[in-house]
Amino acid sequence: MIKGSCLCGAITFSTDATPEGVSMCHCSQCRKQSGGIWSSAFVPETALTITGEVSWYAASDAAKRGSCPTCGSFLFWKAHDEDTISFALGAVDGPTGLTLEKHIFMADKGDYYDIADGLPQKD
Ligand SMILES: [Zn+2]
Ligand SMILES: [Zn+2]
Repeated sequence: MIKGSCLCGAITFSTDATPEGVSMCHCSQCRKQSGGIWSSAFVPETALTITGEVSWYAASDAAKRGSCPTCGSFLFWKAHDEDTISFALGAVDGPTGLTLEKHIFMADKGDYYDIADGLPQKD
């Protein structure tokens, strides 16, 4: 069981499913919304229990982004045409038990850091 929460605690989430796609996203939208790299994994939407009022923002036609309206934590990412939902690994309470698989949207990566972990990097 993975449990997580936003910074102020108004929103919580939990799942019994085994998360997939453990990644760090370097895209400009995640950079702006999170203030840096957004680390996430996804589960079937039906397998994620969310409590509290999430503020959803559609930064593009493809997906919406969920955050806490009080503290601003960027918690969820949901593509309109997929039945999975991504949650922020940084918001998980306690160990995740997961291991990073890849870096994505490297073309948008900031110029102030380098990545040397040897994992796959995708544009
Ligand atoms: Zn909050
Ligand atoms: Zn991103």
